[in-house]
Amino acid sequence: MKSIYAIYGASGFGREVMPLARAMLASELKTGEVGLVFVDDGAMDDTTVNGHAVMTYAQFLAAPAETHHACIAIASASARQHIALRCEQDAVLPFSVIAGNASILDCNEIGEGSIFCGFSHVTSNAKIGRHFHANIYSYVAHDCVVGEFVTLAPGAKINGNVVIEDGAYIGTGAIVKQGSPGKPTIIGKGATVGMGAVVTKSVAPGIVVIGNPAKPMGT
Ligand code: UDP
Repeated sequence: MKSIYAIYGASGFGREVMPLARAMLASELKTGEVGLVFVDDGAMDDTTVNGHAVMTYAQFLAAPAETHHACIAIASASARQHIALRCEQDAVLPFSVIAGNASILDCNEIGEGSIFCGFSHVTSNAKIGRHFHANIYSYVAHDCVVGEFVTLAPGAKINGNVVIEDGAYIGTGAIVKQGSPGKPTIIGKGATVGMGAVVTKSVAPGIVVIGNPAKPMGT
């Protein structure tokens, strides 16, 4: 086999991403040139999930293929970070998964190992770091700058001129107000924006904000 591709994580999100990867690789899968499996650190012997073998990481590394590729489909940024480092050390190449109906418009920079689920959008002139997740119906608008290991839950709306720092998590249906050139709305490193929150001003690193207008939890 020329290449083996893995969706790392065989639980909820991984199962959502697998069919997108299968569609992307359809022609190579048909010829048998490539394989597509799940990798999960909790894998048990000889299991399959939704028709794909589930391997441990060690089994995946040992699989006979010229190149090994992985897309980490685990929502936790810290787990993603840890796994990405391990993959890098083992020469496992990151690959991005982009749904056929996702749209990525003009002049965007997208980091490797990212996932764009169905109906997600990136409009124009955005810069997005490695291992980004855009879940279903989420969007990133013009001129945003997004760090590494950032996660957008379903329907998260990031309006123009927003900066999202590394490892931040934007919950389901949350809205982040647009910034302006030179004065972006900033979601700090590792911050969490709760489900349905409406963020009208910058959020400090590491904190959790909820509500409309969003405020730090417990205040
Ligand atoms: N997992 C893993 N290695 C890690 C952390 C998680 O293989 O370091 C797997 C874990 O066994 C589980 C999946 O990733 O099968 C995460 O599933 P979960 O339902 O917690 O989250 P989601 O699929 O929503 O990201």
